[in-house]
Amino acid sequence: FIIPEFQSFSKEIEEIYWKCKDNTDGKVASYIPQLARMSPNYWGVSICTIDGQKFSIGDVNVPFTLQSCSKPLTYAIALDQLGADAVHAYVGQEPSGRNFNELILDHNKKPHNPMINAGAILVCALLKTLVKPEMTLAEKFDFTMKNFERLAGGEDFGFNNAVFLSEREAADRNYALGFYMREHKCFPLKTSFRECMDFYFQCCSMEANCDTVAVMAATLANAGICPLTEEKVLGPESVRDVLSLMHSCGMYDYSGQFAFKVGLPAKSGVCGGMLVVIPNVMGICTWSPGLDNLGNSCRGVQFCEELVKKFNFHRYDNL
Ligand code: GLN
Repeated sequence: FIIPEFQSFSKEIEEIYWKCKDNTDGKVASYIPQLARMSPNYWGVSICTIDGQKFSIGDVNVPFTLQSCSKPLTYAIALDQLGADAVHAYVGQEPSGRNFNELILDHNKKPHNPMINAGAILVCALLKTLVKPEMTLAEKFDFTMKNFERLAGGEDFGFNNAVFLSEREAADRNYALGFYMREHKCFPLKTSFRECMDFYFQCCSMEANCDTVAVMAATLANAGICPLTEEKVLGPESVRDVLSLMHSCGMYDYSGQFAFKVGLPAKSGVCGGMLVVIPNVMGICTWSPGLDNLGNSCRGVQFCEELVKKFNFHRYDNL
């Protein structure tokens, strides 16, 4: 086993879980009513090792919409289907140093990276327009959901239509980002602007629970092979690229500090979820809707910081 003393390891995780539960900082996202109604008390942690050992505690069966946690997943699918050169002809690899929905492009008039809204909207355009372009939007939605499910070892994904409709209704900034990118000819030719935006909102509105998302993180930790089904869902070179950008850009404008303190690739979302990858060891999902002022889950960030205090999972611990 990759974690030989899994029982005692789980006990330690449980201790960190309870410690973080006392942390009641943060505010639930309020830009749409469906998220604003979420209880800040929800707190779940799920772990799945690359050899399929699982542990979870707390609200791990309550579904939440993926929101920005979908960004590394759509990026991974685009990379795998199109190759890194094709994808990065359209989107950069640099942290933006700004908020996730800031109206800003890089010096080449491209979105900074695929982990912020502008970049993720563009990745959705690539997925829609360049990957199997004959597919309708409905077919592309199915294709994407199927791929999410394969990453999760066959767990069913849900789709929250109320969240989707609200996202689309409250999307002035995302439309502004889209139009700004269209003005600068960022999109591939033949992109349908409306379909691309809808597809982005749909990806944000895919729904799963902590247990399921932890398996996706474990598939990334295992170089693209799902530890539960042993299916090769992604190529290792795609996973390498995804983890690199999660490491440098996955935690919004806290990414630099997170890389310094925790030293693990991770991606957060306004849902309060966090996908954390310990390469070659395990995937972790934490979920608690209370967010700090940068948009990261307060308990999730604390959990990761406590985790690397106890275990030498920081990328540069083993020097
Ligand atoms: N749906 C959200 C948005 O596009 C996702 C952003 C996030 O999770 N940070 O604004």
